[in-house]
Amino acid sequence: MGRLSPSASEIVHRIAKQEISCEERVASRIERIARMDRDIHAFLHVAKDDAILRAREIDRRAKRGEKIGRLAGIGIAVKDNICVRGMPATCGSKVLEGFVPPYDATVVERVRAQDGIVLGKTNMDEFAMGNTTQSSAFGPTRNPWDLERVPGGSSGGSAAAVAGSMATLALGSDTGGSVRCPASFCSILGLKPTYGAVSRYGLIPYANSLEQVGPMARRVEDLALLHGIISGHDPRDSTSARHGKAARTSTSMKGLRIGVIKDFFGEGTQEAVGRLVLDAGGELEGLGATVGEARIESLGYALAAYYIVAMAEASSNLSRYDGVRYGASIEKGSADWNEAFARTRTECFGTEVKRRILLGTFVLSAGYYEAYYLKAEKARALLGQEFGKAFRKFDVLMAPTMPVLPPKIGEVVTPLQDYMIDVNTVPANLVGIPSLSVPVGFASGLPVGMQLMAPHFGEETLFAVAASYEARV
Ligand code: GLN
Repeated sequence: MGRLSPSASEIVHRIAKQEISCEERVASRIERIARMDRDIHAFLHVAKDDAILRAREIDRRAKRGEKIGRLAGIGIAVKDNICVRGMPATCGSKVLEGFVPPYDATVVERVRAQDGIVLGKTNMDEFAMGNTTQSSAFGPTRNPWDLERVPGGSSGGSAAAVAGSMATLALGSDTGGSVRCPASFCSILGLKPTYGAVSRYGLIPYANSLEQVGPMARRVEDLALLHGIISGHDPRDSTSARHGKAARTSTSMKGLRIGVIKDFFGEGTQEAVGRLVLDAGGELEGLGATVGEARIESLGYALAAYYIVAMAEASSNLSRYDGVRYGASIEKGSADWNEAFARTRTECFGTEVKRRILLGTFVLSAGYYEAYYLKAEKARALLGQEFGKAFRKFDVLMAPTMPVLPPKIGEVVTPLQDYMIDVNTVPANLVGIPSLSVPVGFASGLPVGMQLMAPHFGEETLFAVAASYEARV
């Protein structure tokens, strides 16, 4: 899928030369969505008229010989927790039904400044909590490779839109794996950028200290292009980095040191998944890299630390949904405001969201704060040190993105089952490093992805490794 299709830059070039019509291209995407999305349900909102109008305008400018942007005519699917002015933003939740943001997120503003075409808003697990897209209040998304299976999550709609060639590019958000998991399950590329590399202004928050907006694509070149456009300092996000420079960037495969995180290949990892990822490591070795074994001593604490921190931050972030300021409101028949707030939250939040608000409030409450939250932050600091040490020996660390193949819809039922499969992706969020999922093939017809991690702001290294791997055949 997609390997042989032209890159975004080639398409832009041909639109600029008027060899192809931007309007026709966008119209054919919209048609494809209408045809395919009945089965897949990647989109919650399709911006048909807006997309066509913008495409026409680009054609007009190309005709006049004016400059067009680096994403001119390229269709982009945007996860429904990223604000696009004038389009609904539900976060996959009933509580935000009817909310239409009056402004663009910085990432959207930057995409549009380069004439990228927002095709619509994509389905997601409610408030980005999950890795199957099953917890969306608007029904699940299906995996384009196998309609009985989940596309991964929480950015499942974005991944399915790209894998199904309904969009060339997509934006997702990754708090603990939500870009990489669906990228892996849908056989596309997905990047969780370095913390602070991409502005979060206009991203409806789940857990601020962990998450980043990340690009998704079928080709490395396109992924790198989109990342280059959305990243960079933004004064409207106080956590956005001013100097996004890597201490060291290695872009040559010759002598590149790759560390395989062995702990991620053991118990809980399906054998076929581990094998394909190790084979990919062998191929990287064939391309000139040296492959060794990396150890991160405290890795076993990462999953617990992640869920404590993520739920704590979520409980505070989600307190703003009271039925007054945004979205849905159940005030009819309520005796007073407190009752109206409680009814809105009880009736409009899904089960998983409520579970996390309760657990998050618990770990932050007096007497438990030290036992849970503070301990989790200590584990996080320790992990940061250990990753730092590993990166003195290796340029890139490698592991399976997901330990399992995409499950069937309805197969992941208990919260613990759901949390456990995040075990390989959450460490990068806890320590803030960039991490990229790259497709490495199929087992029993289902996609498998490898995860590559680099030191802070080492995205260029990840793109270089992925590009060599992509070009190997
Ligand atoms: N599955 C993880 C969670 O539920 C990660 C989600 C995400 O990255 N947004 O928290």
